[in-house]
Amino acid sequence: MGTLHFAQHICGMETENENSIQHCDDLINIIICGAPGSGKGTQSDLIIKKYNLKHISSGDILRKEIEKGTKLGKEIDNVISKGQLVEDEIITKLVETEIDSLDKKLYKGIILDGYPRTLSQAKELEKIFRKRGTCMNVLIYLQVEEEELISRLLNRGKTSGRSDDNLETIQKRLIVYENQTKPVVDFYKSIGKYANIHGTGSLDEIFERVSAAIDKAV
Ligand code: AMP
Repeated sequence: MGTLHFAQHICGMETENENSIQHCDDLINIIICGAPGSGKGTQSDLIIKKYNLKHISSGDILRKEIEKGTKLGKEIDNVISKGQLVEDEIITKLVETEIDSLDKKLYKGIILDGYPRTLSQAKELEKIFRKRGTCMNVLIYLQVEEEELISRLLNRGKTSGRSDDNLETIQKRLIVYENQTKPVVDFYKSIGKYANIHGTGSLDEIFERVSAAIDKAV
């Protein structure tokens, strides 16, 4: 399904509840998106402190599953080390469970880091939010040049111990990002829930830009 068609689809033009109005609560729900190495995790750490949000990182959830050494963990490990994406159904179930573990007394909302990564996941996420009477506020897109991304990831690979932080897998991940995840960014852009952030500079400079975009959206 193309981005525009999909935007029409989930904006209610083609859904069964065509006339339903989406009621939102006062939770803050943010997606942080960007190519591998764009600084999503680092900026998320700053955002959760300032806005009191729960950090839900799909990559971290998957790596925890690998650590458990389960059959599912082994399958996930195999996919991640090839730089490919884990099946939509698997990651969506895991993320949904995390969303449901949110204690509203402790947090003001969530920041999703690394999810949704495909249009199909974005569609599922809209359903998850809709079912729970909540909405997405904004997708923060961290824009960083490819050369800088590769250099950051190779540097991280020296200490991260991640099986996917090597040149061959990094290049595959960047292609997967361009083909599968960029359409998610375009979709949120098309419905006006999008902020483009220049992702290079000092941490504080980037965080200032990110904070300004969040303040505008919530
Ligand atoms: P990350 O830590 O976000 O860079 O994710 C590391 C790897 O986990 C990715 O390259 C994918 O293989 C897998 N992964 C993370 N999030 C998702 C997702 N939303 N959908 C599919 N695969 C994912």
